[in-house]
Amino acid sequence: MLKKLLKNFRKESKASYDDSALMDTYTRLPVSFVRGEGSILWDDDGKRYLDAVGGLAVTILGHSHPKINECISIQASKLLHVSNLYQVQEQSRLAKKFCEISQMDKVFFANSGAEANEAAIKIARRYGHNKGIDEPTIITTKSSFHGRTMATLSATDNQKIQAGFTPLLSDFLQVEFNNIDNIGEHASNQNVVAVMVEPIQGEAGINVCDPGYLQSLRMLCDEHGWLLILDEIQTGMGRTGNWFAYQHEAILPDIMTSAKGLANGMPIGACAARGKAAEVLIPGSHGSTFGGNPLACQTALTTIDVIEQEQLIEAAKNTGVFLKKQITQTVGTHPRVSEIRGKGMMLAIELDRAYDNLAELFLQAGLLASITKKGKVIRLLPAINISQSEAKSIARIIHNVIIKLD
Ligand SMILES: *Cc1c(COP(=O)(O)O)cnc(C)c1O
Repeated sequence: MLKKLLKNFRKESKASYDDSALMDTYTRLPVSFVRGEGSILWDDDGKRYLDAVGGLAVTILGHSHPKINECISIQASKLLHVSNLYQVQEQSRLAKKFCEISQMDKVFFANSGAEANEAAIKIARRYGHNKGIDEPTIITTKSSFHGRTMATLSATDNQKIQAGFTPLLSDFLQVEFNNIDNIGEHASNQNVVAVMVEPIQGEAGINVCDPGYLQSLRMLCDEHGWLLILDEIQTGMGRTGNWFAYQHEAILPDIMTSAKGLANGMPIGACAARGKAAEVLIPGSHGSTFGGNPLACQTALTTIDVIEQEQLIEAAKNTGVFLKKQITQTVGTHPRVSEIRGKGMMLAIELDRAYDNLAELFLQAGLLASITKKGKVIRLLPAINISQSEAKSIARIIHNVIIKLD
């Protein structure tokens, strides 16, 4: 039955997409979206889909939010770009607001998540050099994902991402995620300057750490003078039911990075820091031509505004609990399902084994779901403002697909 369904789907979907002039960096599904509204997308055949991927955790307010549309068109008609040679007031205002919601002191704006992490890694290294450490070492975790630039892929623990790109940047040490003793073993390593972790590992399939892990990390870092760097690129901006995931544990990192949901789709990255870490970069030590441009910053300001006005942090928490409950009720005891996990609007359903063509099956059923771990994990990163009825539909479609797996 499964094979027949897929065959029909492939026949229906247009064979005419010609992406032959694109470098082969992605295996793309045979569907092209032309319009979106809230969490609904339409493809070029007019078929309607429910979006539980959110552009990979980016469109946190859904598609075509009227306030975002208005903000972009007004700002675009006023000013797009001037460069950081001058005062950029939208950037300064966003920095103030971002520091307010994150309890950080200062922020540097880049254009992507990887670039935000580059800035974090550079701050950590320079912080080390300032302390007289010639080979500053950063501890990261197994199964982590921090990006695809040379520094961030070196920090990442994924051989597929690193293959063919050696020599990597040296001086990253990998320890087990969610294992504080494993980090403690490096206590005597005088070169260590920082620990860099995702509060919830996203690309690895939504790995949630135990309560207390981040607090223990904070204590360990304080004890040894290490910087705690939290990569909140996927977890941040309300997704887990707090502005940032570390706020669930009432700790503060020294450096924190954000990107994906920050401007609801306008490219932007932020590297925020606190205390001594906030003073490491000086004129000439780092920069970005596009970073912090008026359009991206004004859109981020509006995104934060909408999250506050529409009380979406609470919504992410409550609808997240509701969605998880719906999924647990519909497929929680199904033999194909081995675990349902996650926090807020960052959920995963782990299956008993890997399945081929899961993403296609979901598309055919009218749902966008992100499939990770080679087909073993269904990852959900919907907009944080989805309705309860949309949450119910997500659970129902997941049920409909899972019962067909053979
Ligand atoms: C997506 C992601 C990145 C990389 O962000 P890009 O914008 O793709 O460069 C880094 N860290 C985490 C945790 C991510 O989820």
